[in-house]
Amino acid sequence: MTARPDCSKCEELLQPFLDRSLTADERATVQHHLENCSACDRCYKLEEVLWKHVRNCCDQQAGLEFASSELKQKLSDLRTPLV
Ligand SMILES: [Zn+2]
Repeated sequence: MTARPDCSKCEELLQPFLDRSLTADERATVQHHLENCSACDRCYKLEEVLWKHVRNCCDQQAGLEFASSELKQKLSDLRTPLV
């Protein structure tokens, strides 16, 4: 791997970044890195999509109902048999 030190740090912060649980400073760090590192940016965009699906799934379980039918379709696509 040719990961720069920044990248592993960025990776660590990606989840809390998506979860909006970072401080403003940390968010700025991640944002800045993503703007300058296409590898992490790609990773972030992937994580973001996944995270939204997971989040949406949890919301459904919690009885919230802002999932559009389009998202539900995407979710059911994602749920194609893993077994
Ligand atoms: Zn990076």
